[in-house]
Amino acid sequence: MTDTKIVDKQYVANTYNRFPVEIVSGKGSYVYDENGKEYIDMGSGIGVTSFGISDDVWQKAVTQQLSKVQHMSNLYYTQPCAQLAELLCKKTGMKKVFFSNSGAESNECSIKVARKYAAEKKGADYSTIVTLVNSFHGRTLTTLSATGQDHYHELFQPLTPGFVHTPANDLNALIETVKANKVAGIMMEIIQGEGGVLPLDADFVKGVAKFAKENDIVLMIDEVQTGNGRTGELYAYMNYGIQPDVVSTAKGIGGGLPLGATMLGEKVENVLGFGDHGSTFGGNPVCCAGALSIIERIDDALLADVKKKSKYIFDELANAEGVESMSGLGLMIGIKPSKKTAGDVLKICMEKGVLCLTAKDKVRLLPALNIPMEALEKAVKVIKEALV
Ligand SMILES: *Cc1c(COP(=O)(O)O)cnc(C)c1O
Repeated sequence: MTDTKIVDKQYVANTYNRFPVEIVSGKGSYVYDENGKEYIDMGSGIGVTSFGISDDVWQKAVTQQLSKVQHMSNLYYTQPCAQLAELLCKKTGMKKVFFSNSGAESNECSIKVARKYAAEKKGADYSTIVTLVNSFHGRTLTTLSATGQDHYHELFQPLTPGFVHTPANDLNALIETVKANKVAGIMMEIIQGEGGVLPLDADFVKGVAKFAKENDIVLMIDEVQTGNGRTGELYAYMNYGIQPDVVSTAKGIGGGLPLGATMLGEKVENVLGFGDHGSTFGGNPVCCAGALSIIERIDDALLADVKKKSKYIFDELANAEGVESMSGLGLMIGIKPSKKTAGDVLKICMEKGVLCLTAKDKVRLLPALNIPMEALEKAVKVIKEALV
């Protein structure tokens, strides 16, 4: 074992069951380990490095900002933060943005917005947040509470009260749940990522949006994983023609630096006032300068390319030997193996120089949005062989 692995095992908390690989460098969709072995990166740091490792445009944006000012706190204006908020609003039709540092925090902000909106509009007892069974919304105690998977909850009681879970794709059950509680908001992922790359039914999504609007319930879409071009639209809700009240995102927006964003639509744009929320690092100029370079490049041509690559992966693998089913949208894809476990497929791929992810019983692919066709073809060939 290398020194890094020994020291890490001794001194880093045991929360991650790491693969026996130390990544030392990379470029685009290729990364290299401590022995110089090359891998094609089909996970992009769990959907974070949107344009790959050390992408030139992103790197330039980040380093230029780094040499100007790296942090000033939110007591002062900084240009990248303002520009990024403007760009996000212009591209989505949302009205205001709160910046934080992670997906969990971006959801915490959504929840605070929904609760304050409902408290002022309907009364302080309208505080319940409805989320879906099998969802994943983060690791803080409140976002754990929002997460609809009991096994994350067991040893961390008491969790934040005021969350109820209802099954995905069952509109009647959701309506009954809302009627049985005093509800401030509904939060859901358009594709349940950690839950197994499971897209919600279009009818359900549209039904929830209509019901939320009619009942003045804040609709929050968790786009932490699905956002920022991942599904072939800038945000996944755009695939379904709905207009959420709140959209939270993180992961891919920063291209590799920590950044969370909670976008507020017309209904809730002025809910947060001075002192209602804040973050020391949120809107950090270096993270925002990098994010600006990412969001600027997610244009129609790039999104068309994401869809094209997605179709290529589905065409190659959907009917391949060893594949039971496939799910997902754009470059967020789940493959359910029929002959092996997802973990075994992952291991074989790694040996053959391809890094994939898992999600429940699926092999999960989240490659860089600009992965070169040549790398993608090679990776798909390896995955195909590993599934058999
Ligand atoms: C990853 C993820 C989160 C949590 O993001 P962190 O940055 O790890 O806090 C929340 N929601 C969804 C849908 C995610 O995929």
